[in-house]
Amino acid sequence: MTARGRPKKRGGGLSGGRFHHLLASLRGHHGPQHWWPAETPFEVMVGAVLTQNTAWTNVERAIANLRARRLLDAEAILAVPAEELADAIRPSGYFNIKAQRLRNLCAAYVEEGGHSGLARLDTAALRDRLLAVNGVGPETADDIVLYAFSRPVFVIDAYTRRILSRLGWIGGDEPYDELQGMVESVLTDDVGALNELHALFVAHGKEICRPRPRCEGCPLHTDCPQLGAEPY
Ligand code: SF4
Repeated sequence: MTARGRPKKRGGGLSGGRFHHLLASLRGHHGPQHWWPAETPFEVMVGAVLTQNTAWTNVERAIANLRARRLLDAEAILAVPAEELADAIRPSGYFNIKAQRLRNLCAAYVEEGGHSGLARLDTAALRDRLLAVNGVGPETADDIVLYAFSRPVFVIDAYTRRILSRLGWIGGDEPYDELQGMVESVLTDDVGALNELHALFVAHGKEICRPRPRCEGCPLHTDCPQLGAEPY
């Protein structure tokens, strides 16, 4: 069974040993990532919403605005007029939509008793509670579950799909939950390793295994059948 108690479904190209080797290779190349870049678990939750469809540098500017206006607090976010909240997070893009999503998340957060209340839920229930919030999809929920609650889940994002499919370990178009189940079935419940693995996929996808890959500098190139792959 996986960390969330669902039956294991093995992915053909996946194995714990391969992931262990991949983690070591990426860590050796990119160094420790120290994720998630936030001062509090609540700030992780805010960042997970704001980072949807934008670069992290834009999120940093939006969070700095929230901090300067004393809005890094669920009740403060719920109390401030919607236009003021949207203005504060303007640098993150889609600011009206994200303002509403933040308010939805904060309403659930307050309703459940804040971080300590949510932390009383087991991992599957916590994830389901987050997914029930309008505007929180699987990737956002898993970012929060892993980085704000230190629970063992594997986060799937576009970088992860690109790298694993180029390595030939997955097809690349599997539905989110199916792919997550395949990967979690071969990983341990080591939260530190899962934390680092996702962060390293992001670093590698941004810097090396880009849409037009820079294979000559890639620490995975000896095992990669897609050396010199077409833009993805
Ligand atoms: S060798 Fe190239 S295609 Fe393969 S993982 Fe590295 S950068 Fe990506």
